[in-house]
Amino acid sequence: MNQEIQKKIKNLKKKTNSVILVHNYQLPEVQDIADFLGDSLDLAMKATKTNADNIIFCGVDFMAESAKILNPEKNVIIPDINAKCPMANMVNPNDLIKLKKENPDAMVVSYINTTAEIKTLSDICCTSANGKKVVESVSAKKIIFVPDRNLGAYIQRFVKDKELILWPGMCPIHHKIRKEELLKLKKEHPSAEILVHPECRPEVIDIADHALSTNGMVNYAKESEINEFIIGTEKDICYRLKNENPGKNFYPIKSAICPNMKKITLEKVLNSLETLEPRVKIKDEIMEKARKPLQRMMEVGQGD
Ligand code: SF4
Repeated sequence: MNQEIQKKIKNLKKKTNSVILVHNYQLPEVQDIADFLGDSLDLAMKATKTNADNIIFCGVDFMAESAKILNPEKNVIIPDINAKCPMANMVNPNDLIKLKKENPDAMVVSYINTTAEIKTLSDICCTSANGKKVVESVSAKKIIFVPDRNLGAYIQRFVKDKELILWPGMCPIHHKIRKEELLKLKKEHPSAEILVHPECRPEVIDIADHALSTNGMVNYAKESEINEFIIGTEKDICYRLKNENPGKNFYPIKSAICPNMKKITLEKVLNSLETLEPRVKIKDEIMEKARKPLQRMMEVGQGD
């Protein structure tokens, strides 16, 4: 059944001049149809380089919105319009405007996991891959960092000459990962290294060997001489890790599942290719303002 749908997807993709961008947290069968598989920074960059007319974005809303903002002339299609990141909706524009007024000397760094409207109020965006580099690049000494307090606190560990005002948002999936679960896995697999995402709680990051973005994990696992890894992020990245490193073992936190990422299915991708819907629609004036912080982020580039 999956094979039949995958074949139809392949044919329609060619016929419609479409490209399929897939986030590392997508279902394994969706990862299998990717033209590009990556994290939000990687996919945002790929989106600007494609010659395709249609971008089928298998991820959540803010990622597809970023692709549209960076490629206003292309059709950006998200196979399920209800695939929304709850963290992106934890910042209310009015509250952010108020905080900006209270801190007139601060600049706003927003994690890419924000709505287009919040991006219009931001000086620069960042991802977990380049957050430290972006914060270091900002001229202000005071920074309002939205919305992920865990990522902000992690960046603050390295950037001592700036004060980060942390918004009280978090990713419900990463925030739920407990250090006890990781330590239990470590007891079962004592030779394994613990890799966690910087969206995790500080005490989880403290016991990890490395805190990395998802693409950071992919690169690290490939280059490392270690053969076993405990993975503290959304569990389906282990599908990609295992595919690319068949001789190595990856132990996921089985409960770390992002239900919004799983809303994209093969059937919905096929439907999107047949109808070229649902398209991401953002008002021109919002896109124009939201593009600047994204472009500034791209100029800063990848992290270390
Ligand atoms: S894993 Fe967390 S940050 Fe990523 S899309 Fe899901 S809820 Fe949002």
